[in-house]
Amino acid sequence: MNRPIPKNMKAVVYRGVDDLRVESVPVPRIGKNEILVQVAACGVCPTDIKKIHQGTQVPPRIYGHETAGTIVKAGAGVRGLAVGDRVGLHHHVPCMDCHFCRHRAFAQCETYKRTGITAGFEPAGGGYAEYVRVMDFCLPGVVKIPARNSFLEGAMLEPVNTVLKGIRQLPLLADDIVLVAGAGPIGLLFIRLLALQGIRVVATDLIESRRRLAKSFGAWKTADGADPELMGKLGKLTQGRGLDAAVICVPVDAVVAQAQAALRGGGTVLLFAHTVRGKTAPVDLGVVCVDEKSLGGSYSSDFTLQREVARLVFSRRLDVRELITHTFPLESTSDAVALAAKPTPESLKVVVVQGTQAG
Ligand SMILES: [Zn+2]
Ligand SMILES: [Zn+2]
Repeated sequence: MNRPIPKNMKAVVYRGVDDLRVESVPVPRIGKNEILVQVAACGVCPTDIKKIHQGTQVPPRIYGHETAGTIVKAGAGVRGLAVGDRVGLHHHVPCMDCHFCRHRAFAQCETYKRTGITAGFEPAGGGYAEYVRVMDFCLPGVVKIPARNSFLEGAMLEPVNTVLKGIRQLPLLADDIVLVAGAGPIGLLFIRLLALQGIRVVATDLIESRRRLAKSFGAWKTADGADPELMGKLGKLTQGRGLDAAVICVPVDAVVAQAQAALRGGGTVLLFAHTVRGKTAPVDLGVVCVDEKSLGGSYSSDFTLQREVARLVFSRRLDVRELITHTFPLESTSDAVALAAKPTPESLKVVVVQGTQAG
């Protein structure tokens, strides 16, 4: 039985740079192989903030892609999912068949690059609306949320996936020493997942409260990112050998150069926050060639890790609940975005929630 669904709904529409408006829009219609989800929680992601602040995409759009909610309608051709299921969504799902997918470069796949979840206009995630339409090619990315877990936890699957994907690119052994630069929500996820893997994490951040959090998430050592003695300290911690890897969770070029200098030969710097193209920075290419210090990047999620991510989050081996410090109602999405863009010492993950159903 499908539940009655209104004709119109509230949505937060991006109308131009830093211009988010609460508007009434039609509830999306779904096709035979699609589902309609009533949104309960949607995380505010740095990539959405970037689009809203920099106007990199043509308005109007409805953003929000870290979405969890309840299926309220399912097309006749949908199998394995039903009205009433509580689910977490992935707005990008690769075809698993093209040249890029065969190379496991899923984020470069054409199907993956199409956003398959929408609340109207050009598909852009749609999580900042009451309902979203999930297109057929995104159904393999729908994950059921166990009864004991919350929608908030379901909304964290996508960011956790991106972090696990990044870690999988690092050739690490137990007891290795890895720098995580930046202990915001993403940095803290890296710290916890690396620690679970037996890695000794050195976490840096400019904010003291975040360094304390880094400790509680499993960091072995912490340091002030601006400490002029930092390089010497990293040298001491690794007994002069250098770091096995460094994950850069802040978009600061100087941090990359510093991390590269602190690596051992054959180590890896992984860029995770440099998401703006067209900016260049000097790199000592001899260090990459002769010292075999790799410089790599990771972006977006890996569909094949989805089950593992769901297990980690829903078992609470990776407990994401303490990461969510602020929730805002849908009408206040622009405040949520503003806080996530300019975090306070107390704020970590910011989530837009609807109704009383988020918990
Ligand atoms: Zn995201
Ligand atoms: Zn593909």
